Amino acid sequence: MFDLEKLIRPNIKSLVAYSSARDEFSGQADVYLDANENSLGSPLTKWYNRYPDPHQWAVKKALSAIKGIAPEHIFLGNGSDECIDLLYRCFCNPGKDNAIICPPTYGMYQVSANINDVELRIAPLLDDFQLNLAHIETLIDENTKLIWLCSPNNPTGNSLNRTDIEMVLNNFSGLVVIDEAYINFAKQKTFIQELGEYPNLVVMQTFSKAWGLAALRLGMAFASKEIIDIFNKTKPPYNINQATQELALKALEEVGQVNDMINEIVDMREALADVLKQVPTVEKVYPSDANFLLVKIKDAHKLYGFLLTKGIVVRDRSKVKLCEDCLRITVGTEKENTDLIDALAEWLEVANFG
Ligand SMILES: *Cc1c(COP(=O)(O)O)cnc(C)c1O
Repeated sequence: MFDLEKLIRPNIKSLVAYSSARDEFSGQADVYLDANENSLGSPLTKWYNRYPDPHQWAVKKALSAIKGIAPEHIFLGNGSDECIDLLYRCFCNPGKDNAIICPPTYGMYQVSANINDVELRIAPLLDDFQLNLAHIETLIDENTKLIWLCSPNNPTGNSLNRTDIEMVLNNFSGLVVIDEAYINFAKQKTFIQELGEYPNLVVMQTFSKAWGLAALRLGMAFASKEIIDIFNKTKPPYNINQATQELALKALEEVGQVNDMINEIVDMREALADVLKQVPTVEKVYPSDANFLLVKIKDAHKLYGFLLTKGIVVRDRSKVKLCEDCLRITVGTEKENTDLIDALAEWLEVANFG
């Protein structure tokens, strides 16, 4: 049923990738006069005068050991944003093909579709923030190339039911993209281990959340070798810079420290949820598998403005369908969470007596 050759855009299928100097010679030499770099060095350390490894093999090998998947199944992008854009560019013919999203969800699936002139079809989540499988099924036609599933989902915080995701994987002949940006905070298992079973599966993760490296802009996609090959030939040759590769490699040596942070954030998430549930105007704190809480609260939009006057920025989702009157609050440090709670107490006084 799944046929990658039919899914790929004709221009990408026939594309001959740019062959960089570092592609044509990847061994070790004494004299490099092949890439028009500055042979004298740079104002920084000398290291940065050379083009980086276009395939980031050192980072991929380190990741491979941590994720339990061969390096050939890994793609690295300039943030998940690059992976999202590549999926549209490689598989969706502009003005012809379509993709399906299940809002409320991450905004970049929509923005990137608009940039690439790809029609989006909308199957809103159900009231319990789970997939509406029947609705998704009615939207699929022969031009549907991608279905975006975000689990744990942003901004709702919940994981999608695994059996629902499997249902989509088993019955859709296009690509199913599972965005696992928040998977490290979840009780759910990643789908990376299922890649062998589903040739139509792409899993995305990122260094921006649990790894604490949002500023580096480093996203991951895991898929079949055939899909990764397509990404590799389509991406800009040097999409991940040398500094990012070095820093990511260093961070990957510190899995223990990252796991400690994840545990601490999950503990603080639960503690913050408990405190928020005591606030009289809080109507609901949704269960979260991520590092943020979706909170339904009276006068959410006004509260958002009040928090701003206190120097506290949260995400106002109160105008988003199914998130009416909701704020999305990232779990902060102990001090930041306390500042938030103090500001909420002050807000209640203002609201009561003001
Ligand atoms: C934060 C987030 C990302 C991360 O994007 P990067 O470009 O890797 O920083 C991806 N997907 C979702 C759903 C997110 O919330």
